[in-house]
Amino acid sequence: MHTRYLIVGNGVAGINAAKTLVQNDPDGEIAVYAAERYPYYNRWQLPALLAGHKSQPDIQFYPEQWYVEQGIQVHLDSPVQALEPAAKHVILANGQAINYDRLLLATGGHSFIPPIPGADQAGVFALHDLDDALAIRRYAAQARRAAVIGGGLLGLETAHSLKELGLDVTVIEAFPRLLPRQLDAPGSAMFQETFEHLGIQVQTGAITKAIAGDGKVSGVELQNGETIPCELVVVSTGIRGNVELAAQAGLAVKRGIVVNQWLETSQPDIYAAGDCAEFDGQVYGIIPAAIEQAQVAALRMAGVATEPYKGTVPSTTLKVADIDLTCIGQANVEDESCVYVRFEDHDRGIYRKLVLREKKLIGSILLGDKRNVVPITKLIKGAVDLSAYADNLGAGDLDFRALLASAQSPASRYECSICGYVYDPARGDPEANIPAGTSFESLPSDWTCPMCGAGKDMFTKLEE
Ligand SMILES: Cc1cc2nc3c(=O)[nH]c(=O)nc-3n(C[C@H](O)[C@H](O)[C@H](O)COP(=O)(O)OP(=O)(O)OC[C@H]3O[C@@H](n4cnc5c(N)ncnc54)[C@H](O)[C@@H]3O)c2cc1C
Repeated sequence: MHTRYLIVGNGVAGINAAKTLVQNDPDGEIAVYAAERYPYYNRWQLPALLAGHKSQPDIQFYPEQWYVEQGIQVHLDSPVQALEPAAKHVILANGQAINYDRLLLATGGHSFIPPIPGADQAGVFALHDLDDALAIRRYAAQARRAAVIGGGLLGLETAHSLKELGLDVTVIEAFPRLLPRQLDAPGSAMFQETFEHLGIQVQTGAITKAIAGDGKVSGVELQNGETIPCELVVVSTGIRGNVELAAQAGLAVKRGIVVNQWLETSQPDIYAAGDCAEFDGQVYGIIPAAIEQAQVAALRMAGVATEPYKGTVPSTTLKVADIDLTCIGQANVEDESCVYVRFEDHDRGIYRKLVLREKKLIGSILLGDKRNVVPITKLIKGAVDLSAYADNLGAGDLDFRALLASAQSPASRYECSICGYVYDPARGDPEANIPAGTSFESLPSDWTCPMCGAGKDMFTKLEE
């Protein structure tokens, strides 16, 4: 008997689960039901599509033929309307019941639009789907000014796309700073300066009261009495999980569909992954989590041994040309058990914040510091002990790649056979401008012992 796998949702979670199932149960029958009419596309590239930097074919990741080649049955434009766990089937809009042995809910999320008076007028949008991006693009062709309500990552990317289309753009953020979830106050201040250089206006601490217009948008009214005139509004105030199907079927649901470390829901043979799932109180809302969850869920569904899902270290990057901003892990946690190390270089637009707990990095903000993103991510994910580097972490020229290499090879101290001086990569050689984290091997060939002037060849490795 072939196992019948049914996946609801054709986003990154659904597709990665389907791929994992193909690889691990080639005899299984895999069917994907998708509300959208498009084969799998890159949602994260919608701002680029809106700006006109990418075309629809550019972001279409898999054509329909791909599903055929993989042996995956895909049913586009086929939303699942109900789930009946006791009967082990789902119901489509036409009333048809589809049976499953194992079911994955990968229904993702939708844009949350707060109840703002006037939000139902022509010219008000949210950006979540391909159809949204195409509709905004069409409408923008007849607009001169736009307002984006919400200064989070997606709101800022959308604002930048609209600017690229030639519109005058204002971002309206209710919090006193941009990117309130990602940035602390000093980081946000420096970021805002860089962002405004793009020619986008920013209003922080600005509460939207209503969207003005006579059926068509004419402006955004703020609580302080000001009105920002515009013909187009994009509301970008967060995403909510698509949990209705699960809730109506009696599955445990909080902010997302509650899952355990195997991505199992409260009902047997029903799994959930991606933006619709809540693990350990968290709905991640990012691609890496959707992929990791989908893979564990699919392996479990196929009965293949796997490590449990333990959560994802979040990492988000702003995709706006000329601004390098990445936030990793718990970058914004305010906690007495944490140590914060900051480096700021206003002239070069660099802001780096490191958050440490028990001598280990748990989060970081990197603005204008792209080269350190990979090593810092590895230091966070690897929970590397940084005790030996504590005094040097605030140095602007600290090379985290070298630090990572040296932290991972603790036996790399070298002793001078002439004077006994020990070269410690954790300290570097400040007098010779050798930053902490530089391994002995990568010291310049003409480097000499700071105590006695002996050359590198006079040093021997300490076996520790
Ligand atoms: C514009 C934009 C840019 C983003 N950029 C980034 C980024 O740069 N980095 C990052 O990490 N994350 C980004 N995200 C978030 C990221 O896209 C999501 O975390 C990811 O798409 C979640 O994948 P998913 O498969 O869980 O859900 P989704 O991608 O939302 O897919 C779920 C699919 O299920 C379908 N569906 C829902 N209900 C049903 C039903 N009843 N029947 C059938 N089908 C159904 C939906 O139509 C949808 O196609 C971005 C999100 C948006 C909107």
